[in-house]
Amino acid sequence: MVTKNKRIFLSPPHMSGCEERFIREAFASNWIAPLGPHVDAFEKEVAEYVGAKGAVALSSGTAAIHLALKLVNIGQGDIVFCSSFTFAASANPIIYQGATPVFIDSEPESWNMSPNALRQAFADAERAGKLPKAVITVNLYGQSSDMDVILKICKGHGVPVIEDAAESLGATYKEKASGTLGKYGIYSFNGNKIITTSGGGMLVSDDLEGLERVRFWASQARDPARHYQHSRVGYNYRLSNILAAIGRGQLIVLAERVRMRRAIFGRYVHALSDIPGVLFMPEADFGCSTHWLSALTIDQQLCGVSTLDVIDALAEENIEARPVWKPLHLQPLYSRCPYYSHNEESISEMLFQSGICLPSGSSMSEREQKRVIETLRGCLLGRVKAVV
Ligand SMILES: *Cc1c(COP(=O)(O)O)cnc(C)c1O
Repeated sequence: MVTKNKRIFLSPPHMSGCEERFIREAFASNWIAPLGPHVDAFEKEVAEYVGAKGAVALSSGTAAIHLALKLVNIGQGDIVFCSSFTFAASANPIIYQGATPVFIDSEPESWNMSPNALRQAFADAERAGKLPKAVITVNLYGQSSDMDVILKICKGHGVPVIEDAAESLGATYKEKASGTLGKYGIYSFNGNKIITTSGGGMLVSDDLEGLERVRFWASQARDPARHYQHSRVGYNYRLSNILAAIGRGQLIVLAERVRMRRAIFGRYVHALSDIPGVLFMPEADFGCSTHWLSALTIDQQLCGVSTLDVIDALAEENIEARPVWKPLHLQPLYSRCPYYSHNEESISEMLFQSGICLPSGSSMSEREQKRVIETLRGCLLGRVKAVV
């Protein structure tokens, strides 16, 4: 088969080669289950890496959000403010807890939670006499939200912030690790994330007592007794020792993966920015993005093609690209939830109309990226397919 047609994926797993050594250790000691030394070590290593006091390894990022919501006592009838421009998993745990999400728009500067919209939502909540019990801010495509501003607004109302940093492990906000600015932060090791355990997540915090409760809930809430004794509802949310072994092998190369993804983004910017109507996701000066996914918007008027045309043109060349997240307030599931836009304009809706994510995997070669770029230029400049 000619290499030209080898499929280029959006963000495939990229192993370091060290994972199997850790897995072999687990096999050699028959520590396949439960929990085990790799889980303990992985938690410690992630906590150290990001500079949090503690971490709990869980079966998914979604599970981590769910238990973070439990830690801040979200229950039936409560309200939680949540970024709208994100994956459904950011908000679904609000529903698990019987609470109601209120969706907050993005700001143009970072594509993350708009402080304007957040202030407006708080003002209305205050007037209605019912404040949210938590705010979930999402750090999209590898970039932190403007945490100082968001934290200040929330602090003013005494509301804790949960950082959905599923996409921003390895990024920074003013020198601190993304995911460690809020009261609780969560990471995901799903297969498409910057590092993966094939599936898994982590909750990080300085609240060590809270993390102990998370460990308890995540392992079926078993009370200390010799028989099986339960006084609380528990969950089966822990990460297995084998998956933690993979995570340890991945964590070793996280910094390298960040460098690669940033280089990929830089090459796209360099090769495509001259095209009228093409704008890349901005990198705010408050931090360093991992550029987990390289995202850009395409002005259909100027380019004469829609995002779906571009995605189709790439698909023709066996290249995977995707629209950006569809804002949650536009999802059928959440269409009846309140939504606060940035100003008269709904930024997330505009981004959804014009945004796409390009292949960004750290294992993509420069040659492969060139194929993506040539195809894009051909499509956006209305030329016949370029021959690579
Ligand atoms: C991937 C992702 C999640 C969910 O993580 P899982 O580990 O797949 O459960 C949550 N929020 C965002 C923003 C994500 O991208």
